[in-house]
Amino acid sequence: MNTIRAPRGTTLTARAWPQEAALRMLQNNLDPDVAERPEDLVVYGGTGRAARDWPSYHALIRTLSTLESDETMLVQSGRPVGVFRTHEWAPRVLIANSNLVGDWANWPEFRRLEKLGLTMYGQMTAGSWIYIGTQGILQGTYETFAAVAEKRFGGTLAGTLTLTAGCGGMGGAQPLAVTMNGGACLIIDVDPARLARRVATRYLDTVASTVDDAVALAVAAKRERRALSVGVAGNAAVLVPELLARGVPVDIVTDQTSAHDPLAYVPIGIEPDDAPDYAAKKPEEFTDRARASMAAHVAAMVGFQNAGAEVFDYGNSIRGEALAGGFGDAFAFPGFVPAYIRPLFCEGKGPFRWAALSGDPADIATTDRAILDLFPENESLARWIRMAGERVAFQGLPARICWLGYGERDRAGLRFNELVADGSLKAPIVIGRDHLDTGSVASPYRETEAMADGSDAIADWPLLNAMLNTASGASWVSIHHGGGVGIGRSIHAGQVTVADGTELAAQKIERVLTNDPGSGVIRHVDAGYERATEVAETHGVRIPMRES
Ligand code: NAD
Repeated sequence: MNTIRAPRGTTLTARAWPQEAALRMLQNNLDPDVAERPEDLVVYGGTGRAARDWPSYHALIRTLSTLESDETMLVQSGRPVGVFRTHEWAPRVLIANSNLVGDWANWPEFRRLEKLGLTMYGQMTAGSWIYIGTQGILQGTYETFAAVAEKRFGGTLAGTLTLTAGCGGMGGAQPLAVTMNGGACLIIDVDPARLARRVATRYLDTVASTVDDAVALAVAAKRERRALSVGVAGNAAVLVPELLARGVPVDIVTDQTSAHDPLAYVPIGIEPDDAPDYAAKKPEEFTDRARASMAAHVAAMVGFQNAGAEVFDYGNSIRGEALAGGFGDAFAFPGFVPAYIRPLFCEGKGPFRWAALSGDPADIATTDRAILDLFPENESLARWIRMAGERVAFQGLPARICWLGYGERDRAGLRFNELVADGSLKAPIVIGRDHLDTGSVASPYRETEAMADGSDAIADWPLLNAMLNTASGASWVSIHHGGGVGIGRSIHAGQVTVADGTELAAQKIERVLTNDPGSGVIRHVDAGYERATEVAETHGVRIPMRES
């Protein structure tokens, strides 16, 4: 396989910028600096693919290169299956990935169909060609801790100590996200190699050689209101109860060990190197021991909560596993979405992201300045943009992510389009988002856990979101199943819109970047959230059931 890398610069390889953008972002998802296993077309998240197989990939590239500006290509689970005459406001690409009929929506059936070559797992942004590397998880984690700071600690984590575990692929973002919010962080991982890797990438400041040293360093940083992250090797099911018993002054507790899979959580008394072999040979015994360990781990988290700490489940199902392990009070603390993210969703806030098709990092620096100029009153946003500029290494095409709400995303998009038009940016900007967003996902274990009206599993909303974005002028639109939490557990939609500096692009951007977060505002109004109703009223979002 030749290495895949998106073209840079202003020379078109397709007929116009929207098609060129889709072409470059598909290639960018498979750039070896971006993708986990480009040789298998896998971008991230286990088996999240950009295309179904190599013949499909080549057909996608061929078709995008010749697609006219009044044509639309249909993609069925990573394979281009048709091109139709539409019109210039229509998306150039419509994508449906991994969708199955309800009763068939489970992993064994999905795997069977995948083996037959009939489908692929698209995750969220793998199969919809807008993954930008680990900046996405870092920013999401930063945003969560910023919301914790806002809710409990006066808007900053300075002077607080966060205790967490799991310093792996996603969990490794936690120490940097805490220090970016000004706090001290103590992170436990059973595998010292995971901690060392995060020190090498500057996501973790230091690793202490003993628990005593780790506690001393972290508590001193808290006392002196210094941002510092300290790693310590050990099993969380042992160390979290030990730190509780010692009375360490912890303010925030969460966890991102791989608890969602009881064969991946290392039980007490097992060395990390021995765990995979043991799990493979005796899966039932291993599961029982892992769940019993998680019960001890979660019982200590509840102990910290009882002592006054802010405690939350960070989307890894540790509460459910601890309950299965015999700890009846496991759901004493909330999941992170109902606790911190839903109030943001009520304002139409979510993970807005963009990439510079020029390939020039200076273009992202220019857009960073534009964001700081547009939203000077938003301190948390400004802190993120400044620190991201200093600390985030680009993977593939230079890109940026930040959370913006209803009434903000369209302003940012229009500004980027002006900067393309007046030559301040060297090439067009592609603007998209994660499917984990305010109006675009139904996922009862995560984004729609514990909705106020009990509508957690209603999946009409992401479908309406996708149709609305199609009707509003997005450049490509996708509907996926199973991303984030697995087959049978979520339905979600994505949109990407290209700012190429034209007047037509400005009109499309204005509509898409208003309506897309608007669908999140109405979803939360419908579920009965007061804050969403205020936002809708302030901005004049029409809700027929509230009109007389
Ligand atoms: P990963 O497999 O890369 O890392 C898990 C880490 O946990 C490993 O470093 C492992 O050594 C460590 N670990 C396992 N058992 C342990 C124990 N008993 N004590 C201490 N450390 C232990 O996984 P990841 O990609 O970092 O994801 C972590 C979890 O977070 C998953 O369950 C994932 O589903 C969840 N997650 C949630 C969100 C979200 O939206 N909130 C996002 C990403 C990941």
